[in-house]
Amino acid sequence: MPLGSICVTIETQSSGREAPAMVLDTPLQSFPGVGPAKAKALAKLGLETVGDLLTYWPRAYEDRTKIYLIAQAPEAEPVCVSALVAETPSVSYIRKGLNITKCRIVDGSGAAQAVFFNQDYVRRALRAGESYIFYGRVEGAGNRRQLTNPVFEREDRIRFTGRIMPVYPLTAGVSNNLLAGLALRCVEDCAGLLPDELPGAVRQEHTLCTMEYACQNLHFPVDQEALALARRRAVFEELFTLSCGMAFLRSRRAALTGQVFPGRAVEEFLKLLPFVPTGAQKRAMEELLADLTSGRAMNRLIQGDVGSGKTAVAAFAAWLAHAGGFQSAMMAPTEILAHQHYETLRELLAPAGIKVGLLTGSLTSTEKKTMYASLESGFIDLAVGTHALLSEKVGYQNLGLVITDEQHRFGVGQRSALSSKAQNQPHVLVMSATPIPRTLALLIYGDLDVTIIDELPPGRTPVETYLVGEDKRQRMYGFVRKQVAEGRQVYIICPAVEEGEAGELKAVTAFARELSEQVFPDLRVAFVHGKLKSKDKEAVMSAFARGEVDVLVSTTVVEVGVDVPNASLMVIENAERFGLSQLHQLRGRVGRGRWQSYCVLISDNRAPETRERLRYFCQTTDGFKIAEKDLELRGPGDFFGQRQHGLPVLRAADLAGDTRVLKEAQQAAEALLRADPALADPENRPVMEKIRRLFREEGDIFN
Ligand code: ADP
Ligand code: MG
Repeated sequence: MPLGSICVTIETQSSGREAPAMVLDTPLQSFPGVGPAKAKALAKLGLETVGDLLTYWPRAYEDRTKIYLIAQAPEAEPVCVSALVAETPSVSYIRKGLNITKCRIVDGSGAAQAVFFNQDYVRRALRAGESYIFYGRVEGAGNRRQLTNPVFEREDRIRFTGRIMPVYPLTAGVSNNLLAGLALRCVEDCAGLLPDELPGAVRQEHTLCTMEYACQNLHFPVDQEALALARRRAVFEELFTLSCGMAFLRSRRAALTGQVFPGRAVEEFLKLLPFVPTGAQKRAMEELLADLTSGRAMNRLIQGDVGSGKTAVAAFAAWLAHAGGFQSAMMAPTEILAHQHYETLRELLAPAGIKVGLLTGSLTSTEKKTMYASLESGFIDLAVGTHALLSEKVGYQNLGLVITDEQHRFGVGQRSALSSKAQNQPHVLVMSATPIPRTLALLIYGDLDVTIIDELPPGRTPVETYLVGEDKRQRMYGFVRKQVAEGRQVYIICPAVEEGEAGELKAVTAFARELSEQVFPDLRVAFVHGKLKSKDKEAVMSAFARGEVDVLVSTTVVEVGVDVPNASLMVIENAERFGLSQLHQLRGRVGRGRWQSYCVLISDNRAPETRERLRYFCQTTDGFKIAEKDLELRGPGDFFGQRQHGLPVLRAADLAGDTRVLKEAQQAAEALLRADPALADPENRPVMEKIRRLFREEGDIFN
């Protein structure tokens, strides 16, 4: 839509009958230019009323404040020029579906050609002899300067040029100009009506601007400084609400009564273990014992680096549950992992008379039925499985403990879905091998108590890590051979599954073929990736675990939790493609046995940031340090993949850039809840309402 026409439509409206005053509840459909179809498209963005639009923040901005002379306009980015239209635009019809409108424009410094593709309305919209502001990229030198498809407005009616212009997230049928036009009207009339939901004391203490100012300057910032102030307020408010929500959940959970498990001595359990526990494992067990016998419902996260021995700690909790006559359930994110846990726990707990069952999606329906029956009758004491444990058909006789492994893959909602299978509030134990920077941990796990296992079992030597280029490929193959000759096994990780999927990247299927046919015809090479059927995946993984495969070519599906102590070498192809935390997870697959282990990163990428990242990885084995660095370098994407975190979507905050505000918001939230734990003070009630709205998608966790 040409910008000019928006002005016209709005003018016609105000010339008519006096329109009723606009309020936050005014439907957007009552605006001229918004018919039923547009209203429907807007609703897809969650925009139905003036109030919705006012809190719909732009995702970016275009700085259209500076006006350049045509001769001096830089080519690199779009800019504004103020110029006179020198002639009536001419339209040439090139072929069906393509016409070009052109006209010369001039200012004191020179002239340029304005060119429009398929916008023949421009012929009438641009009048010869009038001055306009054009916004676009000025290309070409000297008298061949050209602007292609610029935005323009008559100089005496500018709205969207000469200012910082908001760029909104869009959907089909909703243009940025439509939103900006609506926002301009709404902000002018209604920004002052938005309730200020931050308690006044918090706003003052953290020097945050008012809601009105924030709203005005998030949509149409006066200048960059005003935008920064406005953004700070919006980001703070969002993170503050989230932090309050998590802290609130946590305090409410802390008040729940829980089953009392018997106070058996940890030593009794330790007799079952084939090894001496580390100090950290013992401390974790003591903490669990205290929780589980306290009479309050436990909600605890155990965070420990890969290989730190979390399974034994979980086994202790299940053992204690059994001693108290309760069943336990343990949920893992993949079938492979569920299977491995099942094997480990069955062996470990059998001498104590604990019956362990496995429930995954790939069981036959008869097998599943048998499992359902055994869980319901209480025959099985510990159910290990995947998401299948969440199925409606699963019921327990008396579920007392819920364990989820590799928690970052499950959301808050799924965690509570599993808990809801119990008649009474079960104890909840969450295990994560992803070291998460403290600030983020508070957000993701803010509703849990945290135990950190910061010690590896003795005798583990750190994995030696090297970064090499393609020129060392033959030497690397020699090294693979040497490891296999010594009886060890090797992982080779590729970033892609199929050839051509991502250009030059090593792809699992093709590379595995090349290795087995040309490079290692005498070795047993197999491959696995996420697109295989889970039965096939399982078969390959278990063959590898049994030592029947020498070299396993794989995508990152091996990233999670798989335990093959005999594997001593991990080669990572196109290492530049992986984030630090992911590399750390991958490397954790080796160095789990008594052999010196190695990790070889292959990358020819020369970008300095990449070199820095990969070198840092070679020198560091501490998962928490790596996680901090990852957050600093790449942002929180790896920690918050595709809403796996189960947190509400953040609209203003960018967790990587805003960690300082995050810390401040967390402190403010803690202080507020200390003073008013139920958020019952009238001034704090809006915060409670906001929490409810923010977590709305998470179902009923606040009820
Ligand atoms: P993670 O924390 O990654 O889940 P696991 O529980 O799978 O670690 O343990 C990794 C390996 O270390 C397993 O083979 C386990 O038997 C072994 N292990 C765990 N604790 C100890 C210990 N204290 N001493 C020796 N080996 C241990
Ligand atoms: Mg584990």
